[in-house]
Amino acid sequence: PTLPQRRRISILGATGSIGCNTLDVMSHLGGRDSFEVPAITGRSNIGLLVEQARSTGAGFAVTADPDRYQELKSALAGTGIEAGAGPAALIEAGERDTDLLMAGIVGIAGLAPTLAAAARGADIALANKECLVSAGDLFTAAIASGGGKLLPVDSEHNAIFQVLEESQRHAVDRIILTASGGPFRNHSRQQMAAVTPEVAAAHPNWAMGLKISIDSASMFNKALEMIEARHLFAMQPDQIEVIIHPQSVIHSMVGYCDGSVLAQLGVPDMRHAIGYAISHPRRTGLPVERLDFAALARLDFAAPDEERFPALALARTAMRRGGLQGAVLNGAKEAALEAFIAGQIGFLDMADIVAAAMDRLDDGRKAQSIEDVYAADRDARDVAQSLIARASRIAL
Ligand code: NAD
Ligand code: MG
Repeated sequence: PTLPQRRRISILGATGSIGCNTLDVMSHLGGRDSFEVPAITGRSNIGLLVEQARSTGAGFAVTADPDRYQELKSALAGTGIEAGAGPAALIEAGERDTDLLMAGIVGIAGLAPTLAAAARGADIALANKECLVSAGDLFTAAIASGGGKLLPVDSEHNAIFQVLEESQRHAVDRIILTASGGPFRNHSRQQMAAVTPEVAAAHPNWAMGLKISIDSASMFNKALEMIEARHLFAMQPDQIEVIIHPQSVIHSMVGYCDGSVLAQLGVPDMRHAIGYAISHPRRTGLPVERLDFAALARLDFAAPDEERFPALALARTAMRRGGLQGAVLNGAKEAALEAFIAGQIGFLDMADIVAAAMDRLDDGRKAQSIEDVYAADRDARDVAQSLIARASRIAL
């Protein structure tokens, strides 16, 4: 299956889970016959980045790590592929002329290069949800002023995008995000207090990067997705529901004013959402497994337990308070997650730290510019760091 005309697709975070799935979909859709790759980026895995750059014939390959520049440059010598490194080169990768940019970096690190692409008018296939969580209205305004489309790649939001008819937007009552519940769906708080990063990273249904997998276990991923949904679909906080659905077959749903609920279903495979975003507004054949309903036999649902998973209530608080609370929630969460991965704090400490940072930085300020977002992110990390230091002292 090939696309009707050759398209240019740049990929931020090409070496990650989303990036590799994107390249896989592109090779199924015709590879170099269908696509040109103006720019790709990675960070530590230079070997993979070089292999990807060579096989796609990329124009520009960038590592986020400035210390790896020479290594990347010499590995690309003689290929005609330009090498770059560090934050300015990442932004330049976003600015290179392209039809579509896959935003597949994890965390707020992806915001600047994705904004650069949006401002240039590229269509943005957005996996990097932290852009919307932290910069919300500024991010959607940058897309609008650039004139490109914003295509959600997060599976829940991609599902909603598939079933939400633009002409019926006024008739939407609610959106219902499904959540697998992660590996600790049936754990008590006491059990969760003792889990290791390795156990937390083992997602029952989806194969994803380390950070989003642990965020799924704490349901911070769903918290980010609630805020992401608010911005993508212009919903009020009380119109966004979360339901536990362990099979991850229903990717999400839209409820209309007449009581109808439309859902998008599929096997849990990110290539589905990625392929949909790349081919939009057409559909193309994709190498994903087909659902076998008889084999499935049943779909289960349960209300989320917000005592065991306080992240969901924190998302609602952030939405209600507005302003820079999304950036604070995300910045504190990123710092706490890194501390959990490093073994400095326990699993349940993450939500406590985020809650404390949100309260301490709740000053009602709104983001006037992207610099305000970065400042809120830094402040949140600073507050989180001091709490992490205290929590790890207590643990000793
Ligand atoms: P990953 O860890 O597998 O890959 C992250 C990519 O970003 C890598 O290429 C890495 O080199 C790069 N990167 C990491 N830190 C960076 C930094 N500081 N500066 C620049 N580049 C950096 O992550 P992933 O699972 O592919 O997730 C990427 C994004 O997509 C996240 O925002 C995640 O929440 C979202 N997402 C992922 C999935 C999934 O299936 N993996 C599903 C939905 C949404
Ligand atoms: Mg998701």
